[in-house]
Amino acid sequence: MDELRKDPTRGQWVLIRPKAQPLIEGPCPYCPGAESMSGGEISAYRKDGSPANSPDWTVRVVPEADAYFRIEWELAREGVGMFDMITPRGASELIIESPRHDDTPATMSSEQMEAVLWMYRDRLLDLKRDGQIRDILISRRHRKPGVALHHPYTRVTAIPIVFDETRRELREAREYYQYKRRCLYCDILRQEIAAEERIVKLTPRFAAVVPYAARAPIEVWIVPRQHACSYEDSLSAESARDLARLLVDTFAAIHRAFDDPGYEMNVHTAPNLRSRILQGDWATIRDDYHWHLEIVAQPERVNRLGGIFVNETAPESVAAGLRAAWERR
Ligand SMILES: [Zn+2]
Ligand SMILES: [Zn+2]
Repeated sequence: MDELRKDPTRGQWVLIRPKAQPLIEGPCPYCPGAESMSGGEISAYRKDGSPANSPDWTVRVVPEADAYFRIEWELAREGVGMFDMITPRGASELIIESPRHDDTPATMSSEQMEAVLWMYRDRLLDLKRDGQIRDILISRRHRKPGVALHHPYTRVTAIPIVFDETRRELREAREYYQYKRRCLYCDILRQEIAAEERIVKLTPRFAAVVPYAARAPIEVWIVPRQHACSYEDSLSAESARDLARLLVDTFAAIHRAFDDPGYEMNVHTAPNLRSRILQGDWATIRDDYHWHLEIVAQPERVNRLGGIFVNETAPESVAAGLRAAWERR
């Protein structure tokens, strides 16, 4: 039933899937002591010797209960007449960011945030060994509108296509590079640092900046000052420490400045270069793309994932429902 379908008029991928199961009220499955409720552990940072699926972890990765993408599904690319369909083979994981249920990115210690950043790297490296996975979205939401605060986690979504948002960004960066032979993001940084007015904070290795054409009232990008196309290949002991501190301080500032708003943070990193389909794919990506983080308060993006629309009602059943209503006239 789950299918990735392409709208050929917009070049837009849509995930068609059954309606998500309503969450059952009950104790939090992500708190220490409840490890057996969250599905088998995929990875964890633990105190010496403590076994998998036991308490005493600092960061823990588990499968998402109502997964959009599943590793055990067979990857199939099909033409349905003139249309394109791909089965949603991939991975949906949750990185439980802290043992503390009420931790938020604004209250977390920077040591805890640093551990989360290392786990981002570990999951990206591990999932990218799978050549059928083309792109991975690392995404966290704070305060989804209308939902109570939950145990802090980051969602990892690995998919057999390139996310629409990534694809658009890669294309713009490549075109800029083809024309100017310079990295678009390095150029943006140079100009923003000189102009100063949109810079929020500069550290030795990163800049927190409000983008020139911000799409939302609250939007902050965290851009490494050293050029690199992928997050997972460029994280070092020094940059992880610097980034963790900058992130906690940025989230705390957003909390104070805007009265704890809802927002989403996405890691923008290069797709899986091992999954190249055509010879010329991503030929200059190491020079033309520049990884970064984007924080955006944009609650209306609730039904989108990295630019892919998620529709929980099959188009065929909507058409059938409308036809039936037509008859009842
Ligand atoms: Zn909890
Ligand atoms: Zn660059």
